[in-house]
Amino acid sequence: MSLRLHFQSIFTPNFLPRHFSHYTPRASFPTFSSGEMEDVKSGSELTLADPVLLHAKIDAIRSAGPQKLQVIADFDATLTKFWVNGTRGQSSHGLLQQDNPEYNAKRQQLYDYYHPLEFSPTLGLEEKRKLMEEWWGRTHGLLMEGGLTYESIKQSVANGNIAFREGVSEFFEFLEEQDIPVLIFSAGLADIIEEVLRQKLKRSFKNVKIVSNRMVFNDDGQLVSFKGKLIHSLNKNEHALDMAAPVLEHFGDIDVPTDDNDLLKKRTNVLLLGDHTGDLGMSDGLNYDTRISVGFLNHNVENSLSIYKEAFDVVLVNDAPMWEVIKLVSQMCLNEK
Ligand SMILES: [Mg+2]
Repeated sequence: MSLRLHFQSIFTPNFLPRHFSHYTPRASFPTFSSGEMEDVKSGSELTLADPVLLHAKIDAIRSAGPQKLQVIADFDATLTKFWVNGTRGQSSHGLLQQDNPEYNAKRQQLYDYYHPLEFSPTLGLEEKRKLMEEWWGRTHGLLMEGGLTYESIKQSVANGNIAFREGVSEFFEFLEEQDIPVLIFSAGLADIIEEVLRQKLKRSFKNVKIVSNRMVFNDDGQLVSFKGKLIHSLNKNEHALDMAAPVLEHFGDIDVPTDDNDLLKKRTNVLLLGDHTGDLGMSDGLNYDTRISVGFLNHNVENSLSIYKEAFDVVLVNDAPMWEVIKLVSQMCLNEK
C-alpha cells in the first residue's frame, strides 16, 4: 500500500513534465529530486535508442488519451524475472510437474529433442514451425494422458522457481485505474499463467487478459482437452490479434460496446513489452498509430544491446524491475488539464 501511495505522488500532473526533458541516451528515466525514487532505481539500467523520437511518441499517445491505448505483453522473462533465487527462472511450461513423474520425464525428453531444433541455424522457418506444432501437440498430449489435474497446477506454481519483476502489480494497478487493457500473449499455458498471477500477485485485475493455450478440465479437475488453436513459439505472434478478439469481447468494463469484435483495433496506440525481438510481432495485424516498445534484454547483453536498441524504443537490462515502465506509461497517461 505504501508503494501505491508512493506512485500516486509521482503521477501528479505537475511532477512529470518538470523532469520530462531529462531523457538522455543510456541514462535513467527522469531523476526524482525529492529523493523518494532513489530506492526504486537500483538494479535497473535503461537505454533509449532515440530519445527525441520517444518524446514525440509519448506526446502523441498522451494527446490521443488513455482510451486509445492498450498494453501488449509477453509473459515469460518479460513480466517474470530471468533470474530467480540465483538460478534461471522457470517458464510457465517449465514449472509444471504432473503427479506421475514418468510424464515429467517424457516431456523433458521432448524438450531435449525439440528445443535445439527451435534455434537451429540450418532449419528453415516453415520446417521449424512444423516441428514446434509437433512438439507442443505431443506435450499437450502427454499432459492429458498423464491425467494432469488443476491441483497439480496449483502445487507446481507454489513450488516453481518463478517470480514477477518488481512493480508488475503496481503496473497493472495503474493501468486498471486508467481502464487500459493488458493482453498477455504467450505460447505457454493460460491456466498456469493465471495461477501464477493469483499466487504471486495475490489479487486479480479486471483489465488483464491472457491469450495462450487454455485447458479444459472435467468435473473431477482432470485435464481433458485444450481450447482453440494451438499457440506455439513460432506462431504466437502472427495470430495474436485473431486470438485476442474473443478474449476482448468480455471486456465489460471498457467504455465501448462489449459485443464489438474490433475492440482491440480501436485502441490504436500500443505499449508493447517483450524480451525477444520476435515479440515485436505481437502488434502485427494492428494498424496502430503509435507504438512504444520496451525490450527486456536478459542475457548476452554485450552482444545483443545494439540489436535491441535497433528494435525497441526502450531497452532495460540487468533483469530490471517495472518502475521505469510505470514512469513511461504514467507519462503517456498524463492529464495536462
Ligand atoms: Mg518471453
